[in-house]
Amino acid sequence: MDFEEAKAKALIQQMQSPSQTSGGSISVSGAVNTEPVCPQCGLLHPPVRPGEKCPNAPIKIEGEKVDTTKFLVDLKNICASQIEKKNIKDVEKMFKSLIVEIIKFLENYKEK
Ligand SMILES: [Zn+2]
Repeated sequence: MDFEEAKAKALIQQMQSPSQTSGGSISVSGAVNTEPVCPQCGLLHPPVRPGEKCPNAPIKIEGEKVDTTKFLVDLKNICASQIEKKNIKDVEKMFKSLIVEIIKFLENYKEK
């Protein structure tokens, strides 16, 4: 599920929430979403542990929100096409190596 999809789902859940309907006395058992709205991303999902960053939360740089999701989707698509092209079997191993490379890259990355 991508970010936009999750956002849409959360909105639908909010609209369907019994607390939003006025004057009704309908009690729907088993249909209540017990997942709280995440304060970091505003979506409904199991809460992150205290001090932990929500993976859906947008990166904030000097008060400005940067939507990293679209870049991550691009990365995912690049990985998927290479996995297919190279016929990579051990995807987990590939991703572990990729993460090591990404960390190295980010540590050495300088703007300009
Ligand atoms: Zn969240």
